[in-house]
Amino acid sequence: MSKNMILEVEEEVLHKISNILDELGVEGYAIGGYVRDKLLHKKSKDIDIVVLGKGVETAREVAKRLNGVSNLVVFKNFGTAMFHYKDKQIEFVGARKESYMRNSRKPIVEEGTLKDDQCRRDFTINALAISLKKDNFGELIDPFNGLEDLKNKIIRTPLDPNKTFDDDPLRMMRAVRFAAQLDFTIYPETYEAIKKYCERIKIVSRERIMDELNKIIMSSKPSKSFILLLKTGLLELIFLELYRMHGVEVINGISHKDNFYHSVKVLDNIAQRTDNLWLRWAALLHDIGKPKAKRFDPDHGWTFYGHEIIGAKMVPEIFKKLKLPLNEKMKYVQKLVRLHMRPISLVEDTVTDSAVRRLLFEAGDDIDDLMTLAEADITSRNDEKVKRYLANFKKVRQKLVEVEEKDRIRNFQPPVSGEIIMETFGIKPSKIIGNIKTAIKDAILDGKIHNNYEEAYNLMIELGKQAGLTPVSDKHKPANNEK
Ligand code: ATP
Ligand code: MG
Repeated sequence: MSKNMILEVEEEVLHKISNILDELGVEGYAIGGYVRDKLLHKKSKDIDIVVLGKGVETAREVAKRLNGVSNLVVFKNFGTAMFHYKDKQIEFVGARKESYMRNSRKPIVEEGTLKDDQCRRDFTINALAISLKKDNFGELIDPFNGLEDLKNKIIRTPLDPNKTFDDDPLRMMRAVRFAAQLDFTIYPETYEAIKKYCERIKIVSRERIMDELNKIIMSSKPSKSFILLLKTGLLELIFLELYRMHGVEVINGISHKDNFYHSVKVLDNIAQRTDNLWLRWAALLHDIGKPKAKRFDPDHGWTFYGHEIIGAKMVPEIFKKLKLPLNEKMKYVQKLVRLHMRPISLVEDTVTDSAVRRLLFEAGDDIDDLMTLAEADITSRNDEKVKRYLANFKKVRQKLVEVEEKDRIRNFQPPVSGEIIMETFGIKPSKIIGNIKTAIKDAILDGKIHNNYEEAYNLMIELGKQAGLTPVSDKHKPANNEK
């Protein structure tokens, strides 16, 4: 009789794999994230299986005998192989023992026992295994009390944490990530080792660091991880611009708020409202220009004039450095950073339709996301204030809807094109065309004319004449036009 607990394994595929492994005479275990998540009553889509023997060959045989598996992907460098079965992704690896060289995360690998393989896992909660053997199917193999740590919500390395993090410093990021993702605490010795070895993060590629950072940002309370990154020393090494937001200066007894804590609070707020990774990034970066914009003025205290413009300029550099995509996602984040103060200026009752139209024009289809960011940016501890600000923004949203219904500015397209101007006045491409287009756009945004072709055409004729041009063609003249 085994002293360990037996778990009920619901996944049909694991029963089938168990039978096949039995036929093959190979010992196998489900291990890692799948077991952890199962014990936390979370569904996971990927299942890792460790076998005593050759991982790739076993995977190939299992895939052949399992009905419905079409392709096997082999990662030669890692000695692993993966296939999809129904909605699950199943990955096989041979049990191994690892040893590390100082300058690389890539270990020297030799065949090992199940225990060896569990020793190379990053945390006790990730080293749990479930037997797929016939005689003890479902038995939990837990040499490091991972189950206890799961119950107590603790992240702890199975071996000496100094060695664990020195060997593979990515594990420090994983520890910090699991803290927010699972809402766990890092065990004191493990935490101290991260502080001690944080410099080692330098040997990890940007891409792997960013995978973890994005997972942190997508968790339900990202501030927990960011504060750990700050306190362990990792943040300064992986994200200097964010690190520089930390701290409070005092002059003449006047202080400003700590912009790091504010930013991660805004990120927490927005995490309640959206799963859009890039909107979450915009929340994290919205004040990133503040350290550079900061001034002390004896009359006004601390000011951060223009920080949204400085911040928007920093976004491409930051994305490049962090190896984030330099595409329309970056442009989107940049735009939200640049515009994040604008909804506040629309709060007053006296605000004109023109100001509302201008913001609609600049934000376009991202206007709702911009409002979500503005609302998340309210981090006052005074509940009354928060309520009042939110109510104000609700009014702004209402104004935006009203003006948009009337004037259709969100997807503004110039009603008169450059070609129309050129053909009407018989002129070649030149600066005056741009001037006329801008003047028409401004007239629409300022409410001087309506957003339609006829009024835009008439204004074009007028502006052309003022500039000394004479119409030479009626081709684009709208029907029923008096002019
Ligand atoms: P998630 O899938 O949510 O990212 P996970 O723990 O399943 O979390 P994977 O990257 O899928 O993470 O890895 C599967 C398992 O492999 C882990 O549970 C752990 O046992 C082991 N593992 C992954 N990365 C490392 C690492 N850097 N060092 C040691 N063990 C690791
Ligand atoms: Mg996983």
